[in-house]
Amino acid sequence: MKRQPFETWLRERTSVTVDGCWNWELAINSDGYGLSYRDGVHEPKRAHRYVYEQMVGPIPDGLVLDHLCRNRRCVNPDHLEPVTHQANLRRGWDALNGRSYSVYQTAEGYWVTAFSAMREGVRRRKVFKGRNRALVEARMTAWLEDGRAAR
Ligand SMILES: [Zn+2]
Repeated sequence: MKRQPFETWLRERTSVTVDGCWNWELAINSDGYGLSYRDGVHEPKRAHRYVYEQMVGPIPDGLVLDHLCRNRRCVNPDHLEPVTHQANLRRGWDALNGRSYSVYQTAEGYWVTAFSAMREGVRRRKVFKGRNRALVEARMTAWLEDGRAAR
């Protein structure tokens, strides 16, 4: 069987949203992530990981892809960011007026709060980092309450 070019394969399986998300239109796992099968791969692989690897490169061992757009069906590599597995495990979402930020600890021991949002296809991101978790969370909360995230 002739191998289909990646771009064609991708185009036939996705639709682009107004936010610039590439929504996976085929099988979706029970956890909301797209499933992909290609080139005789029998094990379903999460579509966003597969697309990321094809377009950006290998995902380093131990890293998982975080959806900055909060849309698990999305496979747009621009909306995906590798974070440590540890960060993923530690991540907690704090909804604040419909917005959210992530909290995680880096391998170096820093606490990071990251706000990200997609608006009109543009990724916006704000990060606070420090040794003290309560402090970086307080800075993020103050920043969000100041309304700067909405501007
Ligand atoms: Zn997206």
